[in-house]
Amino acid sequence: MALRTILVKGDPALGKVCRPVDKFDHRLHILLDDLKETLAQAKGVGLAAPQVGILRRAVIVVNENDEMMELVNPVIIHQEGEQDGFEGCLSVPNLYGQVKRPMKVRVRAQDRNGEVFEVEGEEIVARCFCHELEHLDGHLFVEHTDHLYTGEELDAMMEDQEEQA
Ligand code: ZN
Repeated sequence: MALRTILVKGDPALGKVCRPVDKFDHRLHILLDDLKETLAQAKGVGLAAPQVGILRRAVIVVNENDEMMELVNPVIIHQEGEQDGFEGCLSVPNLYGQVKRPMKVRVRAQDRNGEVFEVEGEEIVARCFCHELEHLDGHLFVEHTDHLYTGEELDAMMEDQEEQA
């Protein structure tokens, strides 16, 4: 396994539509392993292949049990409800914005061997599915918000809210 460099906003790879994975071979397995290692090191909750410059439809999402899920060629097949909350991205360092997402989503994907499976996520996991899948079509969360906050601004806001609570 190897750490890969996470590309940041402005890199053209982050604006591209990724191609489906059609070979479930050793190269894909190395990519998935590298994505997981890179995500763990960055302490993130999700990472998409285009964020490391690979224009293929593969993402890693951390689920509610803190396990990393591998999703190849994922599609959202059902969504319901709505949530509004702060979101960030390893490709947009130290900036956060408020983004509306569905409360619950169901995703159909393939595993590293090509087996089809379905998985559901709620709250932060649903948010993460939406966020990571958007990367595969060249979109970033900043497109859904008109104001970005720095990590320091966000911390100060959270402290104010706690004081008011
Ligand atoms: Zn992201």
